[in-house]
Amino acid sequence: SNIPRFRMAVRSSAVSVAPILTKLKHECATPLPLLRHVADAMAADMRAGLAVDGGSDLKMILSYVDSLPTGNEKGLFYALDLGGTNFRVLRVQLGGKEERVIDTEFEQVSIPQELMFGTSEDLFDFIASGLDKFAQKEGEKFYLPPGRKREIGFTFSFPVRQTSIDSGILIKWTKGFAVSGTAGRDVVACLNEAMERQRLDMRVSALVNDTVGTLAGARYWDDDVMVAVILGTGTNACYVERTDTIAKLQGHDSSSGRTIINTEWGAFSNGLPLTVFDSDMDDASINPGEQIFEKTISGMYLGEIVRRVLLKIAEAGAFGDSIPEKLSTPFVLRTPDISAMQQDNSDDLKAVGSILYDITGVESNLSARKIVVEVCDTVVKRGGRLAGAGIVGILQKMEEDSQGLIFGKRTVVAMDGGLYEHYPQYRRYLQDAVTELLGLEISKNVIIEHSKDGSGIGAALLAAANSKYEHDF
Ligand code: BGC
Ligand code: MG
Repeated sequence: SNIPRFRMAVRSSAVSVAPILTKLKHECATPLPLLRHVADAMAADMRAGLAVDGGSDLKMILSYVDSLPTGNEKGLFYALDLGGTNFRVLRVQLGGKEERVIDTEFEQVSIPQELMFGTSEDLFDFIASGLDKFAQKEGEKFYLPPGRKREIGFTFSFPVRQTSIDSGILIKWTKGFAVSGTAGRDVVACLNEAMERQRLDMRVSALVNDTVGTLAGARYWDDDVMVAVILGTGTNACYVERTDTIAKLQGHDSSSGRTIINTEWGAFSNGLPLTVFDSDMDDASINPGEQIFEKTISGMYLGEIVRRVLLKIAEAGAFGDSIPEKLSTPFVLRTPDISAMQQDNSDDLKAVGSILYDITGVESNLSARKIVVEVCDTVVKRGGRLAGAGIVGILQKMEEDSQGLIFGKRTVVAMDGGLYEHYPQYRRYLQDAVTELLGLEISKNVIIEHSKDGSGIGAALLAAANSKYEHDF
């Protein structure tokens, strides 16, 4: 590329930095009419995706989850979660209506970088061996009647074309994963093969997206949960849909008349306010042209967008006459770093200065630090507000089909993910957008509730609901 890597002479900042910032703020602006347009487009894309396969950017995937947890689920179940940066295993003893969650234990390991670019076998061997080690530590407080296999709820947080509740084909990787040999295959078969290689005798009873796990987990405690959203490394949303509104649903009958739809909204792209920094980042990504909403609002990308802006203003002289090499390294600046900078309330922005220096090598005075915070805020505000508009789009679609059953009563959106959890400004911008779009009255009925790590228990509950054994103990 033509990015300057070493020291270069640059002009004084005052003249050339300001227009870059002005343009950025202008292009990232999300006034109410724009948000309204995004929410409407989200609702329209949902309908188009429900009408026919491939009908819109939104895949609107059938989850095969037709009944949500009731509280009556009983027994010992495992959950396995492969999603963004971490891999988690969990076991839970469910005790039914009265006792609910009797005991639970979990472990988490970060996924080695090389596995994200390796082979399917290596990745699934890693998962199966993590599960094996964890299963061996099952203590006496957990109880499984003799003669039964341990059953797993498998949360797999990538776009999967479900073929049943316990099988589904990976459509493509997202979030920087580029594992060869998995796309086009049944991921449960991949896991089963790896478990056989380890001689691990467990059975996947439910394959779910993390949004679906989160919805099920939250619904276990609260009947008003209708939507679940993940805002972490990646982003997505699912919701409870009426089967009679799903034209493409032929032959799949649900006795409840309801089913969960995984929207895969990360692929949404209509009407988004995008900049040259977004399109450059997209071009350089391993999935150009895909996951545009995700690239605009989720944790994997916000820091990288900011880095690209900072590099541009560095070239215009914002940080003196040199550009540190580190600033030219893709993804060095991570979303947790920009969040940390935005939490600095001191007069001299000392923390901003040191984070900036440690991570990018940029030396800054107070006015430069103020500019950096402004850039972070601009990118994060756009992300949070667009996420809010997406949520309203889903609720709006549900409301149109149910007349008052969404906005006329308490409706809960279960939310999880590190970005939402750890970035207070993002959270506030999201909530502001929801309130602006819905108005004060209606937005009082819409509760966005953080459901931390709910997808693990949710997946275990769905494994219980789809267990091949009678739960008569
Ligand atoms: C995936 C979704 C997932 C989301 C959040 C996206 O990249 O496509 O399946 O739910 O990330 O983890
Ligand atoms: Mg996750």
